[in-house]
Amino acid sequence: MVPSLQKLLAALRRLPGVGPKSAQRIGYHLLRATREEATELARAVVALKDRVGLCSVCGNVAERAEGVSDKTPLECPVCADPRRDSSRLLIVEEPYNVEAFQKTGVYDGLYHVLGGLFDPLAGVGAVELGLDALARRVSGGSFREVILATSPTTAGEATASYIHELLKPLGVTLTRIAVGLAPGADVDYADEISLRLALEGRREYGSIGR
Ligand SMILES: [Zn+2]
Repeated sequence: MVPSLQKLLAALRRLPGVGPKSAQRIGYHLLRATREEATELARAVVALKDRVGLCSVCGNVAERAEGVSDKTPLECPVCADPRRDSSRLLIVEEPYNVEAFQKTGVYDGLYHVLGGLFDPLAGVGAVELGLDALARRVSGGSFREVILATSPTTAGEATASYIHELLKPLGVTLTRIAVGLAPGADVDYADEISLRLALEGRREYGSIGR
């Protein structure tokens, strides 16, 4: 195999869900593709790395507008929207959880993205998750309710419990989304529905099964 193709296949194999067979299929597809088609893909990857980062306020995915200096802090579309209800804050693990809650169409408050969960073995704790910044944001904001929407796993519960203790003295109402609802045949559809139900069924933290 020629070196350039070999290099491309090696890079493709490092992508999640791409095995040797898929890498080969994509590689040979690109070899046959027009120069424009291949360049479009390459440019999209570079643009992602150059212009997309994390929102300086909430940690969601944000994009720098063309011509804006890379020194300017990024702001995501949710934080930039003045119509959002600034009295409610929903805490999630990853930016793609924001997308999922946005799709439910029933939440119009703000978000805070942790970028992970407590993981003592990997050395991820309160400092790594930036929880001091979260506490500062809540104490300096006008939030009345903070919704803990981390997963119902051991790590998710441990993280939620820590955040509950951290924010309790700040006088906001802390709620936890309801879990374990409505599995369905169509995964995407069920996910959206069960997220909505989980959100609508949220209860004050500590009042669920404890
Ligand atoms: Zn934001």
